[in-house]
Amino acid sequence: MPSASFEPEALIVGAGPAGLTAAAYLGRFRRRTLVVDAGDPRACWIPISHNMPGFPAGVAGTDILQRMRDQALEYGAEIVPGRVETLTRDGDGFTAQIGGRSIRARIALLATGVIDHHPDLPGVERAIQRSLVRICPICDGYEATDKAVAIIGHDDKGAREAAFMRTYSERVTLIHVGPASALTRHDELDRLGVELILAPIEAVSIEQDRVTALTWGGRARGFDLVYSALGTSPNAELAQAMGARLADDGRLEVDLHQGTSVPGLYAAGDVVRGLNQIAVATAEAAVAATDMHNRLRRIDGLTVSD
Ligand SMILES: Cc1cc2nc3c(=O)[nH]c(=O)nc-3n(C[C@H](O)[C@H](O)[C@H](O)COP(=O)(O)OP(=O)(O)OC[C@H]3O[C@@H](n4cnc5c(N)ncnc54)[C@H](O)[C@@H]3O)c2cc1C
Repeated sequence: MPSASFEPEALIVGAGPAGLTAAAYLGRFRRRTLVVDAGDPRACWIPISHNMPGFPAGVAGTDILQRMRDQALEYGAEIVPGRVETLTRDGDGFTAQIGGRSIRARIALLATGVIDHHPDLPGVERAIQRSLVRICPICDGYEATDKAVAIIGHDDKGAREAAFMRTYSERVTLIHVGPASALTRHDELDRLGVELILAPIEAVSIEQDRVTALTWGGRARGFDLVYSALGTSPNAELAQAMGARLADDGRLEVDLHQGTSVPGLYAAGDVVRGLNQIAVATAEAAVAATDMHNRLRRIDGLTVSD
């Protein structure tokens, strides 16, 4: 918890790339900033990212987070572990409940990310760390070039990801584990040369030589790697409880400055846009933090008219 004397102006919920970038910006705008984080940001699962701008040799997710955390701390942000249980309007600002304590802030940013729906495979977490099971073809499809790739899907999102992976490989297989009626793109998959397997996965073995073998209906098949296309759930409950508008996919709707439909409440990162990229999360955080600062300047009469 923050020290008793620390009264934040800005509250940031979440210390992934979005929350930490916003904290560095707000610190540099000389705003007292508190970041509260429940742990396990998605970014810490990235074995090595090859599409992070400025890192041509790649960089681990934990390294990215450490650098961003150091930068936020450098400019005075306080970063504390904890879960924001509720967030409510309180006059012009917000009150958060965190582990039995109330924290008031003038302005707030939700950078709460999403929860991945992992396939029900034994050892899936270890396999993600070894890049055998992957989540994001936009992030690391390039590294799958010419490999035998399986996509696990339960609806037409699986078909879309399989089609996307044809950018990189001619050996793409969609393993559809959902109801038969949820997959409607058979003809298009056929035209793209995507193999389709319509059977539940019965067993999986992840082998030392980075080959993933899936077995179904008594047959075994080997793939170099597997993508999960089972989707995510946005962590949007705090905003939802305040009546913020959500998009059809459950993500938060924001305006051009990342403001939600609740005045003074902003959102950035995966909880907002489906692209789910660090570069996007940090860009949104920069936009949000700048507007948060300007909003407070306007409230305090520290602006001139346009
Ligand atoms: C395996 C994997 C590989 C990836 N590879 C890449 C890649 O190569 N390149 C790329 O650009 N992207 C990659 N991504 C995506 C990238 O990790 C995300 O886009 C990025 O982490 C989003 O940042 P964020 O700050 O929005 O959310 P997150 O990083 O998920 O952080 C959200 C934080 O909010 C906290 N939180 C949530 N609710 C609360 C609450 N109520 N109170 C307090 N804290 C809360 C969570 O605990 C979490 O720490 C990958 C993702 C995964 C899973």
